[in-house]
Amino acid sequence: MKLYGGTVAEVDLTDDFQLDVDAIVAQKAKISIMPSPNNPTGNCFRIKDIEEVLSRSEGVVIVDEAYAEYGEGSMIRRVEEFDNLIVLRTFSKAYAMAALRVGYAASNAKLADMMMCVKIPYSLNAVSEGAAIAAVKDQEFIRSSVESVRREGPVLAEGLRRLGFEPFPSDSNFIMARSPIDHAELVSGLKERGILIRDFGSKRRTENCVRTTVGTAEQNRLLLSKIEEVLSQCR
Ligand SMILES: *Cc1c(COP(=O)(O)O)cnc(C)c1O
Repeated sequence: MKLYGGTVAEVDLTDDFQLDVDAIVAQKAKISIMPSPNNPTGNCFRIKDIEEVLSRSEGVVIVDEAYAEYGEGSMIRRVEEFDNLIVLRTFSKAYAMAALRVGYAASNAKLADMMMCVKIPYSLNAVSEGAAIAAVKDQEFIRSSVESVRREGPVLAEGLRRLGFEPFPSDSNFIMARSPIDHAELVSGLKERGILIRDFGSKRRTENCVRTTVGTAEQNRLLLSKIEEVLSQCR
């Protein structure tokens, strides 16, 4: 947005990481953009709040559904219902195809025509397009990987809780959790042991929090045992 000379206004989430509908609508923005499920907190926003932002906003509302496959309550089937809704999807997450750089927008035809007016002519290469089309046809892969995340996510969260973490509810393939020891020590201790997790501990609202992807059962066990090592070294 800044690149195109726009002004960006950021609106804080509420204390439970939900949309502050009044504050968003009060911005009278030309475009309001929100990821749901949200990154890095991991939770979906309430559908009724998204609906309220849509109906009370004059501008376009973009719901970035990069992690939609893992959650419930996507807005993608409702793009005809709202004249100002654009839903974004990507092949970078559940489809595990980030390096191919493919995503898409869903909207009503009028908004799609407006986007086509400003889209560069060859924005997607044929190799990525072909791979994405083949991937869409393999819904069994998506079903089984989403099922694995939904099964293993709560196990990982419980493991973190046992180690003294405070994990936040997740509708995604990652978990944000508040660390029982200093976030930077945890992240660097894990890095020394060959494990990379994301550090959000210095950011406002996610003080001392880290974010980790939900892996396979084996990967999650390894993560938990390495965390245990770092914790025992710190105490
Ligand atoms: C990963 C991600 C995207 C999509 O990234 P691309 O690889 O550029 O498609 C979009 N929004 C959020 C919130 C993400 O986490």
